[in-house]
Amino acid sequence: MTARRVFAIAMTVAVACVAVHGQQGVSATAWFGVPLPAGLGDSHRSILDVSRMQPPAATVPAGEERNTELRGDTIHKYLEAIVGISKADRARGEKAWGRITGFRAADETHAWVLEQFKAAGLRNVETETYTATQATWYPKSWEVKVLANGKAGAGSRDVVLESAFPTSGSRVTNGPIRGGVVFVGATTDAALPAVDVTGKIAVQTLHPQSGAFSERTRTTDRARELAKRGAIAVLNVVEQAGNMYVRDFSNCGVPCFNLGTDDGRFLVAVAERAARAGVADVQISIGLDTEMRPDLKGHNTIGLVPGTRDDEIVIVNAHADGWFDAAGDNGDGLAVLMALAHHFAKPENKPERTLLFVASGGHHNGGMNGPGNLVTMNPQLVGKAVLVVNLEHIAQLHFMNDPFRVEAVEQPMGFGISNEAPAIAALATRAQQRYGFALRPNFSNSIAGDLGGYAPLGVPRVQAIHSGPMYHTSGDTLDTISTPGLERAARFYAYFVTEAAKTDRAALQPK
Ligand SMILES: [Zn+2]
Repeated sequence: MTARRVFAIAMTVAVACVAVHGQQGVSATAWFGVPLPAGLGDSHRSILDVSRMQPPAATVPAGEERNTELRGDTIHKYLEAIVGISKADRARGEKAWGRITGFRAADETHAWVLEQFKAAGLRNVETETYTATQATWYPKSWEVKVLANGKAGAGSRDVVLESAFPTSGSRVTNGPIRGGVVFVGATTDAALPAVDVTGKIAVQTLHPQSGAFSERTRTTDRARELAKRGAIAVLNVVEQAGNMYVRDFSNCGVPCFNLGTDDGRFLVAVAERAARAGVADVQISIGLDTEMRPDLKGHNTIGLVPGTRDDEIVIVNAHADGWFDAAGDNGDGLAVLMALAHHFAKPENKPERTLLFVASGGHHNGGMNGPGNLVTMNPQLVGKAVLVVNLEHIAQLHFMNDPFRVEAVEQPMGFGISNEAPAIAALATRAQQRYGFALRPNFSNSIAGDLGGYAPLGVPRVQAIHSGPMYHTSGDTLDTISTPGLERAARFYAYFVTEAAKTDRAALQPK
C-alpha cells in the first residue's frame, strides 16, 4: 500500500469518527480519533523487519576460498566496529549523531582506520589533518510539537513529532516559533495551492522512489517559495515507512524540518480533520538550538601497498564519514576497504602498481572535502595516479517504495567510469560475471559520490554506487547490510583492482 493511500485511508477513518462522535464539529475523542504517531522507535534497527532476509551466498571461484580476508563474516566485523562508533556518538547525547567530520566520532573512526591499516601491514600509514574553509551548521537540540487543542476532542494533549529533523541551515533565534498548520500539497503538484500561508507553518509531502535526495530540487524550491509567501516554517513529510530521521535538503529560507511518514500521517490527518470540522488552526511550536562551528578539522587516513612498480599508483578510496549509523553510507564501503587492505598487503597478492588506500573525510560537509584536500596536500604521491577506484554504498539490501518493501538481494548499483574507457568497462563486466556483484547492466560516465575531489588528477575514476531509500536516514542501520553482499563487493573489487593495476595506461586512458 502506498503511503499516499495510507493517508487517504487514515483520513476516511477520521471522517467516520467525527460523523459518529462529533458534536458541532468537535470530536469526542483525542485528536479527532486519529491514532497518535508511533514515535521514533529504535533507530539502530531497520524500519522494516529484515530478520529473515537471506541474500544468496557469494560466488567464490575455485582457488579463491583461501582469500578468507574477503569473507562476508570477516568484513561484517569491521562494519560492526564502524557502526558502533556512531552508536556511541548517540549514546553520548548527540541528537544528530553519526561519524560527522569535525566531530569526535569522525576522529575516532580515523583512529580506528589507522590501527586497521597498520595491523594489515600497509606502509606509510598516516592520518592527515586539514581545516574547514567554512563553518559547519550543527543542530544541538530541537522539538516540533503539535499543541494541545480541546477542539480536536477531549484529551487532545501536546504531541511531539519525534521524527522531525531540521534541514541544514535552519535557525530559530528567539525562542520557539508558533503557528497554525497549513497543508500545501505534494511537491509533485503543478503549482502551490492558492492558500494564505502568511504567518503559518506550511506542510508539504514528498514521495521519493529512492533516497529523499531525488526530491531535493523540487522540495527545496517549493519550500523557498513558501517562505517568500510568508510561511514562518516548512515541514516536509517524507513518504516512505514508519518514522525515520531524514537528513537532507538545505537552506529553505525559513526553519525547515523533515518529518517521518508516520508523524506526517498524523499531522496531515489532523489538519484535514480540523479543516473539515471547521475548527480553528491546529497549532505547532518549533524549538531549535543550533550553532555554526568554524575551523573544524577533517582527516584523511592513508596507507600504501607497494607494487612491483611504484612509478604509477592506483588510488582505492572510501569515505569514512556518515550521518546517523551510516551502515550503508558508507560503513559498507569503508569495511570493504579494510578487507582489501588486508588482502593486498599479503605478499602473495602483491599488486603490479602501488596501491594508495584512502579513508577520506568530509564527504557530507561543505568546505571539508577529503579527496580535494588529499590532492592538494600530497601532489607528488597522487600525481602518480593512473586510476581512482571508489567504494561507496555497495552492499545494502534492496529497499523499494510503492509499496515500501525490502528484498533479500542487494540494491542494484550503477557502475560509472568517468572516461568510459572500453577496457575498464570490459574488466568490470568480467568481474561482475565472476562474482555476481549487483551492477545494473548499463554503465555510464556518472560518478556522483566521493570522486569529485579527484577530478584535478585528470585520470579515470570508477565506482559502483546506489542511493536507495535509506540514504541519509536513521534507517541506514547495520541490519540493512547484506553480509554476502559485502563479500561480493570485496571479491569484485579485489579482482578489479588486481587487474586494473596491471592494465596498460593507454587502455585505462585512451587518447
Ligand atoms: Zn556516500
